[in-house]
Amino acid sequence: MNCTDFLSQLTDYFDGQISPELLEEVRGHLSGCKHCEIVLNTTRQTIEVYRGNEVYEISDELRERLHTAIMTKCYEKKGA
Ligand SMILES: [Zn+2]
Repeated sequence: MNCTDFLSQLTDYFDGQISPELLEEVRGHLSGCKHCEIVLNTTRQTIEVYRGNEVYEISDELRERLHTAIMTKCYEKKGA
């Protein structure tokens, strides 16, 4: 699993619709990728804020923003 795969599973992860096999892969990726760990924590906090307002949904826009942010960081890391 790479960062793109992780992001594509992110909404299912939070919806609890992820399979046990994929969950293992997600956890494996998180243990080795600080960027995705940060994205996960940020997303969780965002969801909790939305839940407080009873508007719980990861919008396409939010997912796009997260995706862009993480890919930028991954490329910076590789380019350094
Ligand atoms: Zn990653």
